[in-house]
Amino acid sequence: MTSDSFRAIIVGAGPTGLALGNLLAAANIDFIILERHRSVITESGACIMLWPHTTRVLDQLGLMDKAVRSALPLDTKTVIDCNGKQVSSDPAFRLIEQNHGYPALAYPRPELIKLLYEGLEDHMSKIKTSSYIQDIDMDVDGVQVRLKDGNVERGSLVIGCDVEREATKDGIAVREHRHIAEFECLFGSATSISEVPARVFWESHGPGVATQMASDGLTCRFSIWKRLAEPVERKRTSTENETERFMEKMGEVLMAPGFYAKDLNKYCTWKRLVYQPEGVAEQWYHDRIVLCGESVAQMTSINGMGFNVAFQSAVLLANKLHAVLKSDPKPRTETLAAALADYEETRKTETQAISKISVYYIRAATWSSWPGRVFIDYILPWFWGETGLVRKLGEGISKGRKLDFIHYEDKVGKVPWERYSN
Ligand SMILES: Cc1cc2nc3c(=O)[nH]c(=O)nc-3n(C[C@H](O)[C@H](O)[C@H](O)COP(=O)(O)OP(=O)(O)OC[C@H]3O[C@@H](n4cnc5c(N)ncnc54)[C@H](O)[C@@H]3O)c2cc1C
Repeated sequence: MTSDSFRAIIVGAGPTGLALGNLLAAANIDFIILERHRSVITESGACIMLWPHTTRVLDQLGLMDKAVRSALPLDTKTVIDCNGKQVSSDPAFRLIEQNHGYPALAYPRPELIKLLYEGLEDHMSKIKTSSYIQDIDMDVDGVQVRLKDGNVERGSLVIGCDVEREATKDGIAVREHRHIAEFECLFGSATSISEVPARVFWESHGPGVATQMASDGLTCRFSIWKRLAEPVERKRTSTENETERFMEKMGEVLMAPGFYAKDLNKYCTWKRLVYQPEGVAEQWYHDRIVLCGESVAQMTSINGMGFNVAFQSAVLLANKLHAVLKSDPKPRTETLAAALADYEETRKTETQAISKISVYYIRAATWSSWPGRVFIDYILPWFWGETGLVRKLGEGISKGRKLDFIHYEDKVGKVPWERYSN
């Protein structure tokens, strides 16, 4: 299994796998990305919010100008309750950029995939599609990944970004234990909605249901969360009928002043219904296999953090691997495992903290308890409003990591970037 230089095998060409490819390329670390689907580029997907600690690293990678061109421009966040009462309205997105020097970008998943895919200079040779991973073997100096079609890929480290795998004490296995989902989410896209002002991020709260919607005047992205009657511990593959029934049931839910979920029907171009499990894995690595992205952390999408969390983990992983390989180009398993243990320890704690906020926020927004409802719709706007929330969120953003091995001058807003220790 010995090869001359270090080579990472990334499993999954979703946003996390592709982001890792870009980060490892910047670190001059050889890699291959294996994707089970025939194509990486998809036509549909959720709107993913990229916060300034993510856009700062995109700038470091030279992808920022392109990123800004494909994002949905947003100024204001307006929150209403299900009766139409305005909870808060602030120029949150303008403030975020003023505070941190980088924008928060609302990014359709297909555009994000395209950005990261095209960011890889020689993507044709770096990504192998139709490559379904079946098994991984390890020995003292390498890994061997067996594909369903009988091919074998050899390398030094496997980075699992495929959601299907989990780490256990004995090794890495196909996921048996799914995190529990208490919420389902219908998300989708629509053509321009004339009744709803553009550049506003709308959020509505109500009993058991919360919604978000944003439009740039040409297209619109939306999400509707509903609390499940019973928690579930399995993946959802919804049929068209189930999706339509969900949409029908949600018809009278107010999403913006005078605009109900049923009004989406005439504009909607695409939609999908999923369960949104919540949980952070206990174990993130085993010897020469490490996990990143949704494989280790799942949260509902209401606080727009899932990918940002994965991206920060990917940045730390790239920094750690770069540091190890600088002093030892062919590290032994123990050397690699020590770096991966640091990665797990640091990112698990940070991810758990963000996951907790997300757990709390979705329950408060869906009025799952009185204290939550009072906090989110009365205390929070009265004390802070979105402006205060942006400041609070900024404390986390300013602790974000960037790539250690590329010299880069930060743009600075009102809130300085903090120095991080690893
Ligand atoms: C409605 C919604 C809104 C969201 N909004 C935000 C947001 O605003 N901000 C944010 O940060 N995050 C958001 N997220 C979360 C974000 O989309 C996810 O965190 C992100 O897509 C996870 O990327 P990933 O690459 O880890 O996993 P995935 O996107 O699931 O990619 C995994 C890849 O691995 C491949 N794969 C799986 N098994 C195998 C195998 N055996 N062999 C080879 N390949 C395999 C799959 O085909 C897939 O391409 C949102 C999610 C949803 C659903």
